[in-house]
Amino acid sequence: MQKLKILFLDIYKKEGFRINKDVNGAFGTGNNYIGGFFTKLLARYQKESIFWPPIYFASTMGVAEKLGNNCKYSTTLKDANDDFDLFILSSSIVACETELKAIEYLKNFDLPILVIGPFASTCPEKYIQQGANVLIGEPDTALFTNSKILNQLTTSSQLIYPSNKQAKIVNLPMPSWENIFEHKKCVMGFLGSGYSLPIYASRGCPYSCFNYCTYPLQQGRNLRNESINRLVDQIEFYIKKLKVKSFLFRDPVFTINRKRVIDICNEIIARKIKIVWGAELHLKDIDTELARIMAKAGLRIVFVGIESINPESIKKTKRQNAPIDKQLRSIKILEKNGISVKAMFIFGFPGDNLNNALKTINYALSLPITYLQFSVFTPYPGTPIFSEYKDKITAKNFEEYTQWDLVFNHENLTTMDIKYLLNKSYKSFYSSIFRLTRIFYRLAKIELRKRFGIF
Ligand code: SF4
Repeated sequence: MQKLKILFLDIYKKEGFRINKDVNGAFGTGNNYIGGFFTKLLARYQKESIFWPPIYFASTMGVAEKLGNNCKYSTTLKDANDDFDLFILSSSIVACETELKAIEYLKNFDLPILVIGPFASTCPEKYIQQGANVLIGEPDTALFTNSKILNQLTTSSQLIYPSNKQAKIVNLPMPSWENIFEHKKCVMGFLGSGYSLPIYASRGCPYSCFNYCTYPLQQGRNLRNESINRLVDQIEFYIKKLKVKSFLFRDPVFTINRKRVIDICNEIIARKIKIVWGAELHLKDIDTELARIMAKAGLRIVFVGIESINPESIKKTKRQNAPIDKQLRSIKILEKNGISVKAMFIFGFPGDNLNNALKTINYALSLPITYLQFSVFTPYPGTPIFSEYKDKITAKNFEEYTQWDLVFNHENLTTMDIKYLLNKSYKSFYSSIFRLTRIFYRLAKIELRKRFGIF
């Protein structure tokens, strides 16, 4: 098989806020907090201190290299030229129109263009109309099990349906972070200074909130686990090779299998790896024993979705939250063990109104958490709930789907209401000297662990 020279292009729109193509099931988000001083400051800080490309992009590069191809990663079209045999583009809802413009430019080179990722896989039409090929399904496992796909691409636009979607992940080559680091380093300010990497211990999520969530669209609803040894080998490898100091587990729900979490932590502790890491988890899974071992293994921040305290909204979105008293107990356990909790809430769920939203803000402010996030309910194409909203969509472009903009006619809330709620919630939380001191204290402890292995 001919070995190809491939340019992996990860193109971003220039904005005053951070665009991340990996989060939100790799549909991406843009931290467009809108309006006030505090929200603008926060958006600017996040833009400067956080960057990582989609994991599927790094992993697909790893596969392409394993197949013998010569790959280069870039975030700029200036690197495109006809020395390459193929362009592969990442896709996202939040930078969709920018990606389409990039395809228009790349067509000048008369080379095959392939678009990959959950968003293009779910909504391939615009990319196909623009003249690119679109790979349907999970790109890394698809290429790994169908090694001829890349060599068979042409300049005509086609949908490519691989024969083996969502295959096992234990045999995949490692993501090509070395290659990505040559162009741009990954950093996550919330995990302190130095380089960071996102990593998967598992893919897939079986929970019923797939009704509105984008994660299962590509990862599926079956849980697929990475081998624990291979996972910790990867962590050690990137620490040595790329001087990475922290990791963010990007599993949809890291604590979905308690025994596995304990085994992962024990392996990290047994190998004396002094890292700092973060993860997304469910409050219903937390108890003191689990929090202690995760903290001992280096867990310092968790992201927990509470979304709303309006029972009607929770019911309509088919979410299963932990009861309120359990939420508080779990948050206290985590924070007591030095694990910062970032609680995530959503305005504009079905049935939400100004009164409910203000109650949710008050509830959020009453929690002993370190970080807070409020975003805006967004019915994403491809999710089951989208069918209820498709005739109410007001957004003209996909790039308006930042998760901080209202993209549909809400039954009770206007765009002005949403702006007001976002400003109120962020300002109320982050303007507190007590909370800011707590954040600095936690970040200082993270630095001490990274530098001296203490805490
Ligand atoms: S638990 Fe629900 S919201 Fe979280 S990733 Fe799974 S389906 Fe999505």
